[in-house]
Amino acid sequence: SYRKGGYHAVRIGDPFASGRYIAQRKLGWGQFSTVWLAYDTQSSKYVALKIQKSAQQFAQAALHEIEVIRSIADGDPSNSKCVVRLIDHFKHTGPNGQHLCMVLEFLGDSLLQLIRFNRYKGLELNKVREICKCVLIALDFLHRELGIIHTDLKPENVLLLSTIDPPKDPIRSGLTPILERPEGGTLNGGSTMNTIEKKLKQRARRAIANISSRRGSMGGEALKPARCLDGIDMRCKVVDFGNACWADKRFAEEIQTRQYRAPEVILQSGYSFSVDMWSFACIAFELATGDMMFAPNTGEGFSEDEDHLALMMEILGKMPRKIAVGGARSKDFFDRHGDLKRIRRLKYLPLDRVLVNKYKFTDTDAREFMEFLSPLLEFSPEKRPSAQQCLQHPWLNLRSSDGQSKVDAGMNKLKI
Ligand code: ADP
Ligand code: MG
Repeated sequence: SYRKGGYHAVRIGDPFASGRYIAQRKLGWGQFSTVWLAYDTQSSKYVALKIQKSAQQFAQAALHEIEVIRSIADGDPSNSKCVVRLIDHFKHTGPNGQHLCMVLEFLGDSLLQLIRFNRYKGLELNKVREICKCVLIALDFLHRELGIIHTDLKPENVLLLSTIDPPKDPIRSGLTPILERPEGGTLNGGSTMNTIEKKLKQRARRAIANISSRRGSMGGEALKPARCLDGIDMRCKVVDFGNACWADKRFAEEIQTRQYRAPEVILQSGYSFSVDMWSFACIAFELATGDMMFAPNTGEGFSEDEDHLALMMEILGKMPRKIAVGGARSKDFFDRHGDLKRIRRLKYLPLDRVLVNKYKFTDTDAREFMEFLSPLLEFSPEKRPSAQQCLQHPWLNLRSSDGQSKVDAGMNKLKI
């Protein structure tokens, strides 16, 4: 990817914007960009520098993202809406072409890293509530005040506020001969979480999908005690507006990352703000359990889309016929009765049962969490609450008294 039109190769110490920003180390990367910790010599602060690939289509996408986050910054002068802040943007010319660069406030680990760090065991519900509040504040602001749909909400795109201090002595300039490649993906190399994480055995993300035999069985790896996450402030911000759109100016039919995709997107029956609410519910579930809510696969005789719809119905109940047959792609999956064409036998297990049986929630925790989540997972998009309504939900202000919501006291004693 380091060729004409591709990524810009960055060396630590490289200057940007006539020497105002100095590259320190790589923070992350995406399909279109690499993101660097940089030192802003003007404000004497650290920033995140997102450097886009140079080809025309990537530049176009970056211009769009800049337009969106600029309107976000204009709408939130006090920077209190839990959305990443744009500080500056400029063009940088390198051997592979001209790259659009965004200077963003420097944030910390993503929710995905947090989930991994907690060994896919799920966070305490009190922490889940704090994160949910932040994401809802962001969504309410984007939806109601700006008319923007994010369209790609997922744990990777919600970052915690940085809990680590970057180096006291920034690299001012100079050419350290280190060329970091995006696939080297060191993410926040110096963060506490990643250092510990590296020591932990990596394991694949599991999914509750595996309830059903047609998708194979789960690996039976023994659970080790969760790491203590006490003292980590659970505030976060939504990032990555590369795919965001205005509700009255949509671009793509197929939006969202697979596991967080709403049913109306699969069926192509039109979408609006409520697609973000669906993804939000999937994130909340994943935070609380450590598993993705829906992780569909292609199987023999059925597509990933059809598996996805089956998984939804197994937990949420049968999709109302009118909705099932109402989309441009409905005929690919449903017969005229509203039954799936190729996956005939569904194994229903309602959400609260999943939480109790598989994740060892108490009955009360499971019921309360389900009351919060299930309206957001309505098959009918119009029935889903708005972010504003959701912020009023009593679940957000409940407190688990001992800070430990699950019945895993045995595990707790082992906590290091
Ligand atoms: P893409 O559009 O290419 O997916 P993102 O904006 O999602 O790019 O950024 C890619 C990764 O870079 C993120 O997942 C995160 O790890 C890191 N990152 C992005 N923005 C910041 C930031 N403001 N502070 C710290 N890390 C960031
Ligand atoms: Mg991203």
